[in-house]
Parts: sequence; C-alpha cells; structure tokens
Amino acid sequence: SRGKILISACLMGEKVRYDGQDNLITHPVIQGWQQAQRLLIICPEMAGGLPVPRAPAEQLGARVITCDGADVTAAFQRGAECARQLAQQQQVVMAILKARSPSCGVGQIYDGSFSRRLIAGDGVTAAALRQMGIKVFSELQLPEAIAWWQRRLRDEA
Ligand code: SF4
Repeated sequence: SRGKILISACLMGEKVRYDGQDNLITHPVIQGWQQAQRLLIICPEMAGGLPVPRAPAEQLGARVITCDGADVTAAFQRGAECARQLAQQQQVVMAILKARSPSCGVGQIYDGSFSRRLIAGDGVTAAALRQMGIKVFSELQLPEAIAWWQRRLRDEA
C-alpha cells in the first residue's frame, strides 16, 4: 500500500529540542514502521533554520515569539513549508507530532504567556499538514494513530 507517515524528529530520539534534548518514544509499531521505511522524520524548527539550542517559543495569536520577545514567525513558517512540501512529494497520509509544541502541537498549544497555560490550537506545522487533509495525531494519541493506520490498511485490502 502507498502512503507515508511524517513524524517529529524529537520523538525519534533526535536531540533537536530547544534545550538540546529529545522526546524519544519507543514502541514496537513505530519500530516496525521505521523498518518498513514508512517514516519521514523532520524537525520543522530546524528545517526552518533555527539552531539547537534555541530560545523556547510560543504562539501568540498569528505570531510566534520567543521567551525573550524575538519574533520567529518567519522561521516557523519556513519549517511548516518544508514539512508541507515533503508531505506532498512523499504522499504522507498521517503525521505523529510532538504534543504542545508551537510547531508540532496537535489540538493544544501554550497560550503565549510562558506560564504553561494551554489553549486550543495546532502548532504552525501541524495546522499546515491538517489543512492538506493529512490525519494528524500527537504522540499522546499513539493508540488512535495505530488504529487509524490499521483501519486504512484494512480498507485498502
Ligand atoms: Fe520536536 Fe517539532 Fe520541536 Fe522539532 S519542532 S523539536 S520536531 S516538537
């Protein structure tokens, strides 16, 4: 069957977070997808040109602002565009993205006050992928993602 899965690089153990850490998740299904070459791994913030380490950032309305007040909206938009192009070229149908990130967050993001308060919304890249019709999950929804993928394979069979 066709179709790829885009996944946040930090979830695959790449040390690309703002603080130089990762968010590795180990799961046999993810390992299986990787062995079957289903996965496309991207860190949108690095793809957008930001370094590691970098200042933490949050969305504030339509902008993305670091904790020191710098406007990094353009880098976040470049990263989203890289992810969008990759998804289009590689026929991505599903994405598994790091929860609550200003790039990757799914359904919930921080409110821009740097006080850990959450509001409804998607990260910049998550929103772009969702707009393309890609099914978007966070790593906290991994069971739902696996179920969706298996249903898709079954429906294709
Ligand atoms: Fe992980 Fe996404 Fe942040 Fe990169 S932009 S560190 S992939 S959450």
